[in-house]
Amino acid sequence: MMRSTKIVATLGPSSSEPAVLERMVRAGVDVVRLNFSHGVAADHERRAALVKEIATKTGRTVAILCDLQGPKIRVGKFKEGRVTLEKGQHFVLDAAADIGNDERVGLDYKELPQDVDAGSLLLLDDGKIVLEVTEVRGTEVHTRVRHGGVLSNNKGINRQGGGLTAPALTPKDMEDIKTATKIQADYLAVSFPKTGADMYMARELMRAAGGKAFLIAKIERAEAVAEAALIDIMRGSDGIMVARGDLAVEVGDAAVPALQKKMIRLAREHNKLTITATQMMESMISSPVPTRAEVSDVANAVLDGTDAVMLSAETASGEYPVEVIEAMDRVCTEAEQTQPLSLDQEFLNRVFTRVDQSIAMAALFTAYHLKVKCIASLTESGSTALWMSRLNAGVPIYALTSQTATRYRCALLRDVFPIMVKYVGHDREELLREAENVLVQHKVVKGGDIIVLTIGEPIGKSGGTNTMKIVKVGEHLKP
Ligand code: PGA
Ligand code: MN
Repeated sequence: MMRSTKIVATLGPSSSEPAVLERMVRAGVDVVRLNFSHGVAADHERRAALVKEIATKTGRTVAILCDLQGPKIRVGKFKEGRVTLEKGQHFVLDAAADIGNDERVGLDYKELPQDVDAGSLLLLDDGKIVLEVTEVRGTEVHTRVRHGGVLSNNKGINRQGGGLTAPALTPKDMEDIKTATKIQADYLAVSFPKTGADMYMARELMRAAGGKAFLIAKIERAEAVAEAALIDIMRGSDGIMVARGDLAVEVGDAAVPALQKKMIRLAREHNKLTITATQMMESMISSPVPTRAEVSDVANAVLDGTDAVMLSAETASGEYPVEVIEAMDRVCTEAEQTQPLSLDQEFLNRVFTRVDQSIAMAALFTAYHLKVKCIASLTESGSTALWMSRLNAGVPIYALTSQTATRYRCALLRDVFPIMVKYVGHDREELLREAENVLVQHKVVKGGDIIVLTIGEPIGKSGGTNTMKIVKVGEHLKP
């Protein structure tokens, strides 16, 4: 059985050993995530080089996603590295403070005092600690501890209900975009965007640096989940991440499951891709098997229609970085078998204005009804494969492309499997034969199988898909 949902694995100390990373890739990693909240440029460059080496060695398509830190609002450092806050005690977040103690701590986000009022609730360390603001005095935010606990260096701060004015791209992010471009990232994730303008800005900065990465908007702010805001953000993006960690803190944990479903549905409708992230197999940081609840969570994300599921600390700093990939692979593959097909009434009523999009939908419709072995799309930009993958026809889509960038774009798309082809000449018949040959060589099809092919004429022009052909494998190949 072949897995259609893609797996994103965050790299870190647990996945830095070449032998471990190679085992992870062989177990099924499709995309590695370099988390710019940790480490320096040289660390990411080294990791990216290793990933490329292993991808070449194993022959697998492994794309690179650079995840910008964004304006993560954090407390400063403590003299002892940590303090314990007691319920009811007074505690000050002070933009002017230097090193912290059990009465006050500094802030790397100096504007916090302007963004809160008496009554605001601040959630620290993903909501483990809750502070209620009692008064703002100059640079000082005075609070009373509602939920206490251990607070250590540089833990994140969220405000319940949103409302922090920090811009999505910090000066550090702007530098990191250059690093991401240097290491030829295939995807760039922007943290905490509030509007489409945040995404346009990221795209401009990336273009200025010479990058061509696809942009992923991490949906993790209360302001970003309203339907209009979400659509505005998606228009400026190639995909979204359901960033459940920060999102749960801002909107309340109970709201997240329904938001996940809504985001995935809207993204598919707008031809965008989705990554479902955070704590998917959290217990596997220190356990060789997932909990029943985690298995259900991953399977439900697959049933919601996510393109990819993501691992964070599980692969970055956990004890079982290979086993967790195997567990994800197993759970996704089985969940896919029960996924309902989505060529429903709504599909039949769709209207298309673009020729290439119409061909993509016609191919999908035909593939579904003829129960063909696969769809093979000769695609320069990958758009045909993207459109076809937004509906579930239960048929794998092979994206045959000569473009390396397109190969990696397809790495995140559910149901899509990229294969590189070299176009020799501009003869259509020759190209179709070559496509068939490549599929046979990759053992995707064998003689007698029926497949649906899409192609554009003239050959090699992006956005030119205008032909669909139903082929019986082997008939062409006979002399
Ligand atoms: P992070 O994003 O891990 O960069 O915070 C994911 C999330 O918030 O869920
Ligand atoms: Mn986050």
